[in-house]
Amino acid sequence: MSISITFLGAADTVTGSRALISTPTVKILVDCGLFQGLRELRRRNWDPFPVDPSTIDAVVLTHAHLDHCGYLPLLAKRGFDGKIFATQYTVELAQVILRDSAHLQVEDAKYAAKKGYSKHVNPAPLYDLDDAEKSFRLFDVTPFHARTEIAPHCFVTFSPSGHILGSSTVLLEIEGKRFLFTGDLGRPGHPLLVDPELPPMERCDVIVTESTYGDRIHETPPEEFANEINAAIKRGGSILIPAFAVDRTEVILMALRELITAGTIPRIPIYVDSPMALTALNFYRAAVRDNSVEIRDGVSERWASQDPFDPGSLMQASTTEESKALNDISETSIIISASGMATGGRVVHHLEHMLPDPKNTVILVGYQAVGSRGRDLADGKPEIKMHGQLIPVSAHVAQVESFSVHADSDELIAWLRQAPAPGIAFVNHGESAGQESMQKRLASELQWSAEIPAPLKEFVLPESEK
Ligand SMILES: [Zn+2]
Repeated sequence: MSISITFLGAADTVTGSRALISTPTVKILVDCGLFQGLRELRRRNWDPFPVDPSTIDAVVLTHAHLDHCGYLPLLAKRGFDGKIFATQYTVELAQVILRDSAHLQVEDAKYAAKKGYSKHVNPAPLYDLDDAEKSFRLFDVTPFHARTEIAPHCFVTFSPSGHILGSSTVLLEIEGKRFLFTGDLGRPGHPLLVDPELPPMERCDVIVTESTYGDRIHETPPEEFANEINAAIKRGGSILIPAFAVDRTEVILMALRELITAGTIPRIPIYVDSPMALTALNFYRAAVRDNSVEIRDGVSERWASQDPFDPGSLMQASTTEESKALNDISETSIIISASGMATGGRVVHHLEHMLPDPKNTVILVGYQAVGSRGRDLADGKPEIKMHGQLIPVSAHVAQVESFSVHADSDELIAWLRQAPAPGIAFVNHGESAGQESMQKRLASELQWSAEIPAPLKEFVLPESEK
């Protein structure tokens, strides 16, 4: 039977993850992400989906980040009505993230209409809350480690990948062929989540690996974060940390708690200004309380009577008024706000307010995709465009990579090395330098046959391999 894999996204970029496995009778989509970053990439979200969504039998999600699940509402709107298989917290967090995304899409369309940015008289959002809710009805919560039939002769097994709550590597068995997807692979040593579980011992026909940091090693020493905060306090300004609402906010709060408890930094007010981050915090609290399988041993006992995320000065800004009021605070404080690449969300108005003042500091703690405001800041651009205006960058901008929830090049290789050599490996979900570096390392260090898939190119598996 002819079985093929086609990369419908994340083939030449870190966003828009979607891989389609097809047999003559079944189509399975692994991840269904939104393109983010550069305008030309975002524009791809508006293109017709490369296959008729109504012909897809099932979707499997590796995790809840927008670049892996953000297209689901549109897939449902365009006719997909199969099931979406994912772990419990992927389902919970995806709903939080997709509601927020729908809201941002609607707001952007309204803003474009008001300012006359769009070519269209009445610019429509990519999708709205109703579309998002429609896709939620298709979710099917699937436990970790349970081999689950998702279509005739097709099975999925999820294993914790240590990237965010709910995140998993995915083993798909389709008509006897084995496909392993790393999804986004986490790093050993997450303060709450178990280390990425090792790949299965049995050989796979295809391994699909991410390569976000395929050409880089996370080198920032851990003390860098405290040093930046103390330097900022000395300057008398405030600190803004654009952070992905899910996981990064949790990890940063735990790091701040530790630094404050140890007396390395003073106890200054810490604001989490993102309704999505605050909701996600509650799911993490629930997972810790319930000692979920993906929570590290001992964590639930350690935090049985204390909130792991409150360093004693945590304040939560839920409403827009509370968020805006943060602009008037003169006392040195830390504001953690989404989105992590400053592509949208409340962090944009904080940047607008804080960037012109040289006393302030912006600490970037995550991957910044090409074309995002975060990347422009990391690249040292003197002005950043926000709400149609150019804002001068006088604030100090620092990058701290020790909080990355992506395995770096060495960590990816160390994990992949545990798997028997597959028939073929595909390197996706990276910018070209990361993909090329990973492809070379897989070939030279592991003697794997590895390819960088071209977008939309169909790869047919050899019939004889099994
Ligand atoms: Zn991710």
